[in-house]
Amino acid sequence: MKKEYAVIGLGRFGGSICRALSEEGLEVMAIDIDEDKVNEFANVASHAVVGDTTDETVLKSLGIRNFDHVIVAIGDNIQASILTTLILKELGVRDITVKATNDYHEKVLSKIGADRIVHPERDMGRRIAHKIVSNNVLDYLELSEEHSIVEIVANERIHGNSIMDLDIRAKYGINIVAVKRNKDIIVSPQANEVIRKNDIMIVIGADTDINRFEKRLMGD
Ligand code: ATP
Repeated sequence: MKKEYAVIGLGRFGGSICRALSEEGLEVMAIDIDEDKVNEFANVASHAVVGDTTDETVLKSLGIRNFDHVIVAIGDNIQASILTTLILKELGVRDITVKATNDYHEKVLSKIGADRIVHPERDMGRRIAHKIVSNNVLDYLELSEEHSIVEIVANERIHGNSIMDLDIRAKYGINIVAVKRNKDIIVSPQANEVIRKNDIMIVIGADTDINRFEKRLMGD
């Protein structure tokens, strides 16, 4: 059976999740306290309903516990977000993802048992900061507080060197897990793979070690 999703809060974030899930052909119920927002999603979601999700009877009447995954995307009203999450937990919803607005919000959400907490503004801010700081970094994914996967563009300083020549693992303690070259992707490249200018190296490792490697590219 197809999974069923419910999205609570149809701001920019919740709205885009709702659209993306619908585009995947999935069943989505869109819920918001604001009737105009709900009308906007009437043709996007499988069902769009007006309701205040801080009211337990509303969530019960929607049969919320039968949904496989509920996404709480109430942003500014932290109290409503926390209360909604708490009720969803109490009603026994299996999988709850909640958007956190700040660290305090995130802490409370994790205490009350949200299964997944996302912090899109903070994460996007960090990603953009990374790209601004280093011209060579195209994208980055934080794995933990100290480890990341980063896409780094090879420049002329390392063009023509093999992975072995660069001695990346021993010198920097990081690994190149793949190399994107035009439309090709070389997964788990061998040590004798020669890096060319404009290759995109996908590296994994500790942030401090990745930074040292980025500096090598910049010639420091
Ligand atoms: P964006 O994702 O656009 O940045 P945001 O983080 O500013 O949005 P808000 O606009 O604060 O998010 O809230 C998102 C939606 O949540 C709004 O459309 C709002 O009407 C809805 N919302 C707020 N409180 C409740 C509630 N108690 N029950 C249901 N929906 C609610």
